[in-house]
Amino acid sequence: GAEPDFLTVRGLHAGYGQARVLQGLDFRVARGEVCAILGPNGAGKTTTLRALCGMVRGRGSVTLNGTELLGRSPEQTARIGVAHVPEGRGTFNDLTVEENLRVGAHLRTGPRRRGRAERAAVAADLERIHDYFPRLRQRSRQAAGSLSGGEQQMLAIGRALMLRPSLLLLDEPSLGLAPLVTRELFEIIRAVNEEEGTTVVVVEQNAQLALGIAHRAHVLEAGRLVLSGPAAQIREDGQVAEVYLGVS
Ligand code: ATP
Repeated sequence: GAEPDFLTVRGLHAGYGQARVLQGLDFRVARGEVCAILGPNGAGKTTTLRALCGMVRGRGSVTLNGTELLGRSPEQTARIGVAHVPEGRGTFNDLTVEENLRVGAHLRTGPRRRGRAERAAVAADLERIHDYFPRLRQRSRQAAGSLSGGEQQMLAIGRALMLRPSLLLLDEPSLGLAPLVTRELFEIIRAVNEEEGTTVVVVEQNAQLALGIAHRAHVLEAGRLVLSGPAAQIREDGQVAEVYLGVS
């Protein structure tokens, strides 16, 4: 289409010490798209998200709307508009639900901006996030550690949305969740994408689920992309599903 690339990944290499994990990834994501990254355990899906948000050092180039992301810290990429929801969520168990959400706002603005306009903006963001996740509104004053797994994942995503990100990186949002909760969560991710226009890159073991909301998908194997295409096409290709995704 005519839509320019929003996220452009070129020749991305990344790893941990001697362990080379990503062996030169090339892919593009258009603004407003949901992109799924699929593939077997250890393929490098998590490492890809970590490289995009500055948690691991990468070589090559990753640009968001023309701005280079490689070489920046997670704090810096967050200010640029990248919100990362790691596997295992990373919410603060001892803080309340609302306090966790307010941490997300701080990451966006920095701790010093506390004027009236900023307070009003944060209140509006909380309201918006509570509309997506009504359970978080009900549990505002509850400690995050006392939430169910699904609610904690909702909180982690809600906190990321407090950043008003232009790029949302989700690592295995379905991990450990019951099927019904997972479906609810993915519907909310779809709604956020459609209503806010947030570009989403989602890593998932559950390929069917991710392909259900994604526009495009990339299959990663041993640090290389082995397949890329429209999600609908990948979903319908039975052989692809069997060989690469472990479903049939
Ligand atoms: P999974 O679905 O199992 O999480 P993945 O596709 O997300 O797999 P990664 O987590 O990116 O894969 O891991 C890719 C490789 O990097 C694996 O071989 C893993 O053991 C290795 N690895 C991941 N994190 C580290 C680390 N902190 N230090 C060293 N090696 C790591």
